[in-house]
Amino acid sequence: ALLITTRCINCDMCEPECPNQAISMGETIYQIDVDRCTECVGHYDAPTCQSVCPITNTIITDPQQTETKDALWEKFVTLWHSA
Ligand code: SF4
Ligand code: SF4
Repeated sequence: ALLITTRCINCDMCEPECPNQAISMGETIYQIDVDRCTECVGHYDAPTCQSVCPITNTIITDPQQTETKDALWEKFVTLWHSA
């Protein structure tokens, strides 16, 4: 899963672009739900939130939540079936 760092300026560019509804406004900055973030696996070739974020290096790979492509695909399939 990806992580939004404190560089976030709350511009709201990323939230509507997430295909998994994983992004929401947190207490002070936007946040990513690790259970819903597939790093865009199943939807796009690259994480779309990173593409639209205007501040470089704000959205990073969560060092606590590194997942294989297979694990991310499994998450995508599970989310798909529960949608
Ligand atoms: Fe959503 Fe994709 Fe960003 Fe994860 S990487 S939060 S799935 S837009
Ligand atoms: Fe924050 Fe980047 Fe999302 Fe804007 S696009 S709300 S700066 S993480």
